[in-house]
Amino acid sequence: MLRIDQLSYWERNTYFEGQEAVIVGAGIVGLTTAIALKNKYPKWKILILEKGYLPSGASTKNAGFACFGSPSELYEDLKTISEKEVWDTFHLRYQGLKSLFQLIDPTNIDFQACGSYDLVKSNEDEIPDDFIDYLNTESQKITGLDKTFLKEDNIEDKFGFGGIKHAYFNPIEGSLNTGKLLEQLHQKAIQMGISILFGVECQSFKSEAIGVTLTLNIGTIFSDNLIICSNGFAKQLVNEDVVPARAQVLITKPIPNLTLNSTFHMDKGYYYFRSIDNRILLGGGRNLDFDGESTDQLNTTSVIQSALRNVLEKTIFPHQKIEIDYAWSGIMGIGASKQPIVKKIEDHVYLGVRMGGMGIAIGAAVGKQLSELVK
Ligand SMILES: Cc1cc2nc3c(=O)[nH]c(=O)nc-3n(C[C@H](O)[C@H](O)[C@H](O)COP(=O)(O)OP(=O)(O)OC[C@H]3O[C@@H](n4cnc5c(N)ncnc54)[C@H](O)[C@@H]3O)c2cc1C
Repeated sequence: MLRIDQLSYWERNTYFEGQEAVIVGAGIVGLTTAIALKNKYPKWKILILEKGYLPSGASTKNAGFACFGSPSELYEDLKTISEKEVWDTFHLRYQGLKSLFQLIDPTNIDFQACGSYDLVKSNEDEIPDDFIDYLNTESQKITGLDKTFLKEDNIEDKFGFGGIKHAYFNPIEGSLNTGKLLEQLHQKAIQMGISILFGVECQSFKSEAIGVTLTLNIGTIFSDNLIICSNGFAKQLVNEDVVPARAQVLITKPIPNLTLNSTFHMDKGYYYFRSIDNRILLGGGRNLDFDGESTDQLNTTSVIQSALRNVLEKTIFPHQKIEIDYAWSGIMGIGASKQPIVKKIEDHVYLGVRMGGMGIAIGAAVGKQLSELVK
């Protein structure tokens, strides 16, 4: 591997010297932070360092749901989390999607305002109707809609599902192409003069009087500011309440005449599926093995993959045999709170992590908030 002490004058000067900001992580948060910072300080030299040859956490692995909270998840959250925190998080996700669509034209990332269904299984406890009324009253203050969540009863007939008694439809959630989103953000960053280096890992840092010294896998560099956007991997660099949480996904082979054009959640958000290019992308099941899935290793496991297969066969396609093509996993950052950590942690060092399971929605808002903190 080419080390910094082997670089030419030109290479040092172009890529590693005179940085006003170095950002660790080229996921949605690292990229949107860089873009917002460059808008704020157009003359700044900004460098993003990414340890993988592609972003290697969650931003290119996720399901592409543009979502901000389903009734079954909110019902569960409100049992353990304060009302203020739940609605602040809902608001941040909703605003985050708006910020994202100000940065990137939704048509360039195949955004579809297809709505979402939170499916309630036949054997599941009912969510009381007055709770749905409460959700609609509170969410109206954020979305402006009289009814963000509408109960629908004929779901099995409508979609051919098995074991579903009804659903809550949210007309303003949607889906997007997550690969195109990251590609668009990457291209925008490059066009703005931001440098991005892949295969470079930040192993530690030390803040100094006038900036930060970073130890990388290829040598040592200096920057006026360091912004850590490494989400599920943040524990390697900082001691904060954020831990890795793996999420597994599978994708089917193309299915002739597939007509499921919406996004679907189940089981308090622990399962989710959608269609993409005539296939079904289905993820979830982390709740079956919280300990095993508290890892930053990008593997899949038979326990969770067989649970996903079960949902595919029993719930989504009870009357049809469907072939699975392949599976993958990604690493999220979670903690005791569902709110992201966005703060200055020491002189010249900032942190934007713990995006949880809705980082597409929150990511751009966090990038904007981080850029506002950096002086
Ligand atoms: C399977 C799955 C499905 C999901 N589905 C959805 C969804 O449908 N909708 C939604 O809103 N959210 C979803 N999420 C969550 C969402 O993808 C994340 O919250 C979001 O991508 C987090 O973005 P990020 O930039 O904070 O982190 P990441 O995308 O993980 O970016 C952090 C980057 O930092 C890099 N890095 C880490 N440590 C270092 C280091 N020391 N040096 C250099 N680089 C480093 C990593 O390689 C990584 O690329 C899903 C997540 C997964 C895993």
